[in-house]
Amino acid sequence: MRYAIISDIHSNIEALEAVHAKISGLRVDEILCLGDIVGYNANPNECVDIVMRAGISCIMGNHDSRASGLEEPDNFNPLAKEAVYWTREHLTEENKAFLKNLPREITIEGFIAFHGSIHDTDRYVIDEKDALDNFQLLENLPNDIRLGFYGHTHVRSAMSCQRGKVSLEPEEELRLSHWKRYLINPGSVGQPRDRDPSASFIVYDRFNEKVTFYRADYDIATCQEKIIKAGLPIELATRLSIGR
Ligand code: ZN
Repeated sequence: MRYAIISDIHSNIEALEAVHAKISGLRVDEILCLGDIVGYNANPNECVDIVMRAGISCIMGNHDSRASGLEEPDNFNPLAKEAVYWTREHLTEENKAFLKNLPREITIEGFIAFHGSIHDTDRYVIDEKDALDNFQLLENLPNDIRLGFYGHTHVRSAMSCQRGKVSLEPEEELRLSHWKRYLINPGSVGQPRDRDPSASFIVYDRFNEKVTFYRADYDIATCQEKIIKAGLPIELATRLSIGR
């Protein structure tokens, strides 16, 4: 099996279409999304529609749970909160129901997919300490799960753990060792924050135990125009140009 793994689309239809087109040329068997289909940008319904139509398996992100009305955005920063309320107002009832019913995590073929941290949608994996906590949780899962894919930070990253020691794995093409556990973040499709404005995703080749990082250019200017026209905060448009 070859999986394309994407995350944090955030209502950016231009980025999602560019990534989807690139994935189409990469001979994958399945596309997985690690949450946050909506929030921040101006095309929430269009993004949910593509996810449904393309049969993308998806888990729930913190923005999906707030925008669908399942939870309130009390712990969100002012920009994110404003975007949640805008998105809630514009999402169709059908799409809200779709978002509300997404699972919080899924386990397939020896790996787990989650949004923020294992068993906690809102918590970030940023530093070594967060990673170590999650490697511990990974170890406690049944069926010897050695690999976890997560999103939420909008920064692509790969970390491994062997005998309690966490290491960064900076390769664009990463060969997975049987002796290590891994936590891998594909970065964000719709609002990258690693100072590269292009959309980010990965392909996980289960047979060859290989993870490859990809970027896709997209029409940032059109996405920005829509954000401004929608009356969403202008900072949400400007940040897309610099990828942060
Ligand atoms: Zn996000």
